[in-house]
Amino acid sequence: MTKKIGLQTICTHVGEVKDEQFKGAVSPIYMSTSYQFDDVDVKRYPRYFNTPNQESLSKKIAALEHAEAGMIFGSGMAAISTTLLAFLKTGDHVVVQNTLYGGTSNFIREEFPKYGIEFSFTKGYDVADFEAEIKENTKVLYIETPSNPLLTITDLKGISNLAKAKGLLSIIDNTFASPVNQNPIDFGIDIVVHSATKYLGGHSDILAGAVACSDLHMKAIWNVAKNLGGSLSDFMVWMLERSIKTLVLRVKAQNRNAKKLAKFLSSHPDVKNVYYPGLKSHPQYELAKSQMRGFGGMLSFELNENLDALAFQKALKLIKSSMSLAGVESTMLSPYLTSHALLTQEERDSIGVTNGLIRFSVGIETKADLIDDIEQAIQQVKA
Ligand SMILES: *Cc1c(COP(=O)(O)O)cnc(C)c1O
Repeated sequence: MTKKIGLQTICTHVGEVKDEQFKGAVSPIYMSTSYQFDDVDVKRYPRYFNTPNQESLSKKIAALEHAEAGMIFGSGMAAISTTLLAFLKTGDHVVVQNTLYGGTSNFIREEFPKYGIEFSFTKGYDVADFEAEIKENTKVLYIETPSNPLLTITDLKGISNLAKAKGLLSIIDNTFASPVNQNPIDFGIDIVVHSATKYLGGHSDILAGAVACSDLHMKAIWNVAKNLGGSLSDFMVWMLERSIKTLVLRVKAQNRNAKKLAKFLSSHPDVKNVYYPGLKSHPQYELAKSQMRGFGGMLSFELNENLDALAFQKALKLIKSSMSLAGVESTMLSPYLTSHALLTQEERDSIGVTNGLIRFSVGIETKADLIDDIEQAIQQVKA
């Protein structure tokens, strides 16, 4: 009988490359791009995603997401584009959630027409909104929960049931939750993709992506992946392995801080709206609670109309402005100028991304210092 391994042990130990030669404590890095030809099935080559470091880290990803197989990519977009292209061909149709990471949305809008792949963005994020867009030639349902930047929650069980009933494949971008807070495969979702640049990396110094799914689906993804060539160098794979060792510690600290800051902001007289799935006032709080172990480190908010969102962000001293998210340091940005800048004003309005909306990636700093920084910046803007 095999004993189930705990999450923290998976982070620390699963997928280590054993240093047989010197018995060192950490995985050695194998930088070879050339491996002896042994006339066996496994031909090692970095673009085949199977060097010792790549293969080992993929086992950690699989274990973290309760999947049979994992694969590491050169970026989140490499993981997402490869996965979608592995299951969609000319004449197929995909139903895509309306509130989506901007890069994924652009990829679909700009590239799919070239391949004759059809797509529909949902009107909302209820299961019925997905069902309404399904057509004869639909092959895939693509979701993101919690979503960027409004932290909407999509029903994992509902989507996987719908996909199974209609014979479709379900794919989720699990970046915002991280495997610490949410394991979609436990709810019947077929494929999980990650921008490992975010929580898996966690220190704002690694660009990477990951996929987790069944062996069968991974075979199909690998076949396309080796042609598209989006693999990650062994040095960065090693960096990512090192980062994931502290994933649980970091994310739990970020969950705690985010919840406290969401509460602080929602009771602040100068704050109009706070979007955080861990607040009881969030319209999908119960749904979030039923499918997440923690509510994550991301939240969004709007200041009262008389306070300028950009002036506020410029007045912050500790919290940095940043295009990216999920590092150990707290950061903020205006989605309308950054992640969602390529959408039209009309498109942004339709999904609730107002010009006053501020996305807050909560770090692991001392909570009181974050609160002080926000308070002094609000007072500065009011003065
Ligand atoms: C950043 C991000 C991506 C894209 O990942 P890259 O590593 O930048 O390619 C995809 N989805 C979500 C939710 C993200 O935050």
